[in-house]
Parts: sequence; C-alpha cells; structure tokens
Amino acid sequence: MTGRYAPSPSGRMHLGNLYCCLLAWLSAKSKGGRVVLRVEDLDAMRCPRAFATLLEADLRWLGLAPDEGGSAGGPAAPYYQSERAEIYRQYFDKLAAKGLVYPCFCSRRQLHAANAPHRGDGQVVYGGQCRGLTPAEIAAKAKTRAPAWRVRVPAEELAFTDGHLGPYTENLARDCGDFYLQRADGVFAYQLAVVVDDALMGVSEVVRGADLLSSTPRQLWLYRVLGFTPPTFYHIPLLLAPDGRRLSKRDGDESLENLQARYTPAEVIGRLGYLCGLQPTPAPATPTELLPHFAWEKVPKTDILLPPGLF
Ligand code: GLU
Repeated sequence: MTGRYAPSPSGRMHLGNLYCCLLAWLSAKSKGGRVVLRVEDLDAMRCPRAFATLLEADLRWLGLAPDEGGSAGGPAAPYYQSERAEIYRQYFDKLAAKGLVYPCFCSRRQLHAANAPHRGDGQVVYGGQCRGLTPAEIAAKAKTRAPAWRVRVPAEELAFTDGHLGPYTENLARDCGDFYLQRADGVFAYQLAVVVDDALMGVSEVVRGADLLSSTPRQLWLYRVLGFTPPTFYHIPLLLAPDGRRLSKRDGDESLENLQARYTPAEVIGRLGYLCGLQPTPAPATPTELLPHFAWEKVPKTDILLPPGLF
C-alpha cells in the first residue's frame, strides 16, 4: 500500500497543504503503507526548487517525512515533474499512436467565448473546434501558431466511488470535452503527468483536495487507456480562511513560516487532528499519536472554515 504527497511548491506550505499531507500520511500508515513525495513542479518557473527543499524540511519538522521520493530519490526517480518530460512524452506518444491526440490552435479568447459551456467548477467545456481539422488545415494553422495538444474523449459516463465522498459520475464528452495533454509551450499537462507518475511510482491511494474530484474521471479514463491499474481516491474538504476565502500561498495564509514561529510541531498537528475530527480538543499530538484515532468516517465531508483564533 503506497500513498503520496503531490504538492506544487509555488510558495511555502500553508495549513491546507499540511492538512492534506497529514490525512495522506494517516491513511497510508493506518494501512501499514508508505508515503512517496512527488514534487509537482511542471510549471518550473512558478515552483523554484528552493520551495521544494523547504517543503521537505517542513514535513520533517512536522513528523511527516516521506518514505521515498523528493530529494532522497528512490526506484522511480526522478521525483520532480520538471525532470520527467521524457517519460510523459512516451505516454503522450502511446495515446497518439491510438489516434487519440490532435493539435488545438484555439486562442484563449476563442475558448472563453461568451457562448462556451462551462463546467460546475467554472472551467470551459471544450467544444471540439479543432477535433476535425484536415491535415491541410493543420499545416496552414501551424505556420502562424504553435498548437497545444488534446486527447479525444468518448461520450461515456465515467463513474467511480470516492473513498470519502462516495459516488461521482461524469460524462467526459459532455461535461469536460477533449482535454489538454500538452500546452503550446511544450509543458505536459497535469492530467497526463499525474496519472503517469502515480502509476509508475506504484501509488495505490490518492488523498487530495475536493477541488480535484472533478479531475478524477479524466484520470481514470487515462488509466484505462494507458493500461494502468488506478489507485483508490479519497477527496478531502478544503480548509477555508475564517472569512470563507480559499487559503493561498500568495496571501501568506498561515504559512509554515508563521506557524513555526509560534507553535511546536505537536501544537500544529494537534490542531489539525482536531479539525480532522480525530480528537475532541486541539491538544498537542504527534502524527503517530493521532494514528490510533484515525478513521475516514470521522473526517468532515464539507469544506472547513478555520475557527478564528485556532491558529
Ligand atoms: N499538485 C496538486 C496540488 O498541489 C495536487 C495534485 C494531486 O494531488 O493529484 O494541488
């Protein structure tokens, strides 16, 4: 049994990231499993290595050090997405060989046209404008614009049962549309990278924020087409600032830097354990001390407003 942390270190970790790491660690360890750290720095400009290094130090400080990956490496190295483009290329090519990949020349403006259908999460459903381009049309368009690359999805209901949130279904063609595999600047898309990495790193359990629930049908479909066995998914509620805002690294929301100045690791973990429903008070506790109290049934299912004054 292998769980994972898959942070995108574009800043110092904040409480929401910690909350996710703690639950991923507890869930894996409660099953006798291990935890892999994969750094999701696909957008290398936004995720300088210094933040990944700090993240590892922060995880150690909290008692949540991974068993494999990150700078320590391991059998599936490298564990930094910015160093795995060649690997993504191989799987992109497999999809292309199945005739599933095509270039898309649409501009942002075209994609966000007023009449474009939107998903529940606000993203545009791709209307398939470039799906049927002829080779001649592609050659002509390629003269003036580098394309992004999309994968052709079937008009099929993809249903799965989330370990924490229960059944979830999406019709890929209707609810999402053909999605990106690679951006026009050559950077591979999260949806492809995350599937390839979790599969090659032997991840059998994914614990992550509920904002990624709607990505899961796309990923499950990629697992199937690429012939990988999918992991089990547990999507967790988001931690929100007391005023209901999403926590963000940019706003300096309760970053580890602030927390370390004021609390011991056990004081941070104990408060998070309380928010996870694992102890009745925010008393200090180490991850190991929380472990016997861990059960998914206790963890809230809806977003959590940080009680004012808790941190
Ligand atoms: N890298 C993503 C994030 O930090 C998480 C992706 C995932 O867990 O699948 O939000």
